[in-house]
Amino acid sequence: MLSSAVEMSRQRILVVEDEADIAEILEYNLEREGFEVETRSRGDEALEAIRKRLPSLVLLDLMLPGLDGLELTRILRRDARTESLPIIMLTAKDEEVDRVVGLELGADDYLAKPFSPREVVLRVKAVLRRAENSGQQARAYELGDLQLDVPGHRLLVDGTEVPLTATEFRLMKVLMERTGRVQTRARLLTDVWGYAEHVDSRTVDTHVRRLRSKLGEEAQRIETVIGVGYRLRA
Ligand code: CA
Repeated sequence: MLSSAVEMSRQRILVVEDEADIAEILEYNLEREGFEVETRSRGDEALEAIRKRLPSLVLLDLMLPGLDGLELTRILRRDARTESLPIIMLTAKDEEVDRVVGLELGADDYLAKPFSPREVVLRVKAVLRRAENSGQQARAYELGDLQLDVPGHRLLVDGTEVPLTATEFRLMKVLMERTGRVQTRARLLTDVWGYAEHVDSRTVDTHVRRLRSKLGEEAQRIETVIGVGYRLRA
């Protein structure tokens, strides 16, 4: 199931805030709740970070150097890979007009400064839950140096995109969704190729071999379980 794989990798929050003390408070409180947190103080650097590694949610300040929060939201919403990436805006009291614009641009929620850490955590959880329920959450699986960006249909190995065929991508996705669980060749044929069991299972071996050849040092994560199938090691 998808949900179990998502639970296995921690949800990652990107905090984009140029006021260091606020960023620090957010980071501390979110990490305490079990989230993985990354911070950026510039809008352009945030965009770069998002494109490199899709977070589960972005906490976005509006007034930022490099690229402001509204412009960043606009860019993210125009890109198919990030159009449904959950965004919570952080706004100051005198930014009410911007807040409206931000919500119109597609931000999911906002928090007005000053906010309590407890409030932030509650909102983050609510937006993530809502995104998950509506199936909108950006699906990204991570394991070691492997990152599978499902909406973007790409695999990154140590931060570098590795071109995969459509079949290799589906195979990688199934293995990552079921990390640590042995997948029989028959199961993979059904779930990746949509075939019945009597089809030659060497097809699976061939594709696994090709996939491994693209993974560099992470290739050893795809374990062969002799006489059964394959397993992606956690
Ligand atoms: Ca600011």
